[in-house]
Amino acid sequence: MSLRITVTGGAGFLGSHLCDRLVAEGHEVLCVDNFFTGRRANVTQLLPNANFEVLRHDVTFPLYVETDHIYNLACPASPIHYQFDPVQTTKTSVHGAINMLGLAKRVKARILQASTSEVYGDPEVHPQIESYWGRVNPVGPRSCYDEGKRCAETLFFDYRRQHGLDIKVVRIFNTYGPRMALNDGRVVSNFIVQALKGDDITIYGDGNQTRSFCYVDDLVDGFLKMMGTENGFCGPVNLGNPVEFTIAELAEKVVSLCGGRSKVVYQPLPQDDPQQRQPDISVARERLEWEPKVALSDGLKETIGYFRKVLA
Ligand code: NAD
Ligand code: UDP
Ligand code: UDP
Repeated sequence: MSLRITVTGGAGFLGSHLCDRLVAEGHEVLCVDNFFTGRRANVTQLLPNANFEVLRHDVTFPLYVETDHIYNLACPASPIHYQFDPVQTTKTSVHGAINMLGLAKRVKARILQASTSEVYGDPEVHPQIESYWGRVNPVGPRSCYDEGKRCAETLFFDYRRQHGLDIKVVRIFNTYGPRMALNDGRVVSNFIVQALKGDDITIYGDGNQTRSFCYVDDLVDGFLKMMGTENGFCGPVNLGNPVEFTIAELAEKVVSLCGGRSKVVYQPLPQDDPQQRQPDISVARERLEWEPKVALSDGLKETIGYFRKVLA
């Protein structure tokens, strides 16, 4: 069945891949974006399609459209971008959630929130399970993002309890792939761009902190599976790749796949940078029959291919 689907943040990295998939499946897609970190170039391939439409709009303002499903992805995801205007970041998560939930309530749409592993903060439970409440600094430089996303989750669950909304909440762990912006600032794109240009690879801290990297296609599969659940399951559910690497290991892998002679330099670790992160995906395996399929080296090769073209 063809649905009318709204994707906020649809011109961003994850949003544009999601729009691609939804249009390919025959849905009518409205991409809503204020182009803060997203780019028109991410969705130009979709513009000729009559089922695709782009609306320049900031989700902190009300939005009146007719729609069956809403994927709420609008929010800068990279620390350098979400810390650029931290007040706007919290507004985007909180006012944006209220507006999209108000919209979902009015038109009785199903709505999915792109939450984050950052709700766990710098965790004392490892790997992270959904029932862990997290360890988040409420007054630090990452708080605008972490607390904004936590409050958005609260709003989603209260709209469900108070107004009976059909909500879905996914907690995304570090995801990478083609269409990350050159200046995105997150670790995978930084390392690849540095390696391809022959610049120094900047490791923050000693490189022993860990992350688990999910390839974008796997993540989009998870989005669609979660949105498709019909048994009232609303999450929160972790989506990410459970294979954990240190940042130093990632640097080594990227340099060896890119070739070149980049050397590693060490820079100060940003404040409140989580020491370890790995999703426990038992819930996703059981409730969604989902798990990532793309190994880090394969995903990195695709992503490196993309950045080679962009830099050429
Ligand atoms: P991104 O920065 O590429 O995309 C975010 C998009 O939202 C951009 O297109 C941006 O222009 C848009 N946007 C920002 N503020 C807006 C506003 N007020 N109104 C309308 N549009 C706005 O980042 P991404 O990696 O694609 O992340 C997408 C979503 O997934 C975000 O909500 C992010 O928090 C979440 N997430 C991503 C990751 C990841 O590793 N990629 C991990 C956890 C959570
Ligand atoms: N809203 C929106 N689009 C709609 C319906 C509502 O953007 O189609 C916004 C509206 O501006 C409101 C918010 O969503 O501020 C929350 O709506 P809700 O109905 O929950 O609350 P109320 O209107 O009672 O404040
Ligand atoms: N990082 C790094 N060099 C960079 C960018 C990031 O060493 O050029 C580190 C960063 O300090 C963090 C990890 O890589 O420990 C992941 O950072 P990213 O910003 O990608 O995601 P997040 O911290 O939100 O998980």
